[in-house]
Amino acid sequence: MNKTTKASTKEKDSVLYQTSGQIAIITMNRPRYHNAQNGHMTYQLDAAFKRSADDDAIKVIILKGAGKHFSAGHDIGTPDRDINDSQERKTLWYDHANKSGGEFLYVREAEAYLGMCRRWRDLPKPTIAMVHGACIAGGLMLAWICDLIIAANDAFFSDPVVRMGIPGVEYFAHPFELPPRIAKEFLFTGERMNAERAYQLGMVNRVFTRDNLNAETLKLANKIAEMPRLGLALTKQAINNVEDLQGKRSGMEAAYAWHHFAHSHNELESGNKLGGETIKSMAQKNKEEA
Ligand code: ZN
Repeated sequence: MNKTTKASTKEKDSVLYQTSGQIAIITMNRPRYHNAQNGHMTYQLDAAFKRSADDDAIKVIILKGAGKHFSAGHDIGTPDRDINDSQERKTLWYDHANKSGGEFLYVREAEAYLGMCRRWRDLPKPTIAMVHGACIAGGLMLAWICDLIIAANDAFFSDPVVRMGIPGVEYFAHPFELPPRIAKEFLFTGERMNAERAYQLGMVNRVFTRDNLNAETLKLANKIAEMPRLGLALTKQAINNVEDLQGKRSGMEAAYAWHHFAHSHNELESGNKLGGETIKSMAQKNKEEA
């Protein structure tokens, strides 16, 4: 499809990959759009995670965002939004692009959002999200799939998609990342949670000033890298497994179905899966509530 080619040509570096000793640093690189995640970026991220997993020299992975923010969330309206394009799929879900009705988005998000997030969450090396500025909606998913979250003191987190009539983002980790009552408040209000509160609630591991964020995150990553590779991988599996035994995976399955009931309801009611909200209207309301 033309759009894929166009996006690929224009944005071939929507993800950057660097290494520093035993650390891989993966940077989302659409700063002009506050790193809004389109399909192209999704598959570049996947390639970067795969590369870091395959490289025996790499022990720990840092995920960060270029520019002013970590991530403004899923791309719902930049010029290179590529929702209709088929990419090189990583799950066994079939192609969404030629489907209609609820099937189009259900299949697309099962692959691009829920499927990819689960795949990245299970990467058998420690991952650290280094969050500064905004971490909104789909951006939360990218921070939450990481094992640790290190935040700048200017970081803030929000999931305002309930405004679209949708019960939170596709990777529904909210009640695992936050105490359930706080998760409800977080979703019911769509308000921003600052780094300090996220730290107090255990969603964030450490908070540093923006100036120290890079150096401190790298220092922590290097400390973790002193541990043996297999020990780290097994520890990660053990804890992820406990989360799944506690219902994380099955809870997400149910939430994903409700999420798509909401998309379909929106489509039936207004002809728009996002309940008529756009990149502009969401940004405006997010600003008003800041
Ligand atoms: Zn969705």
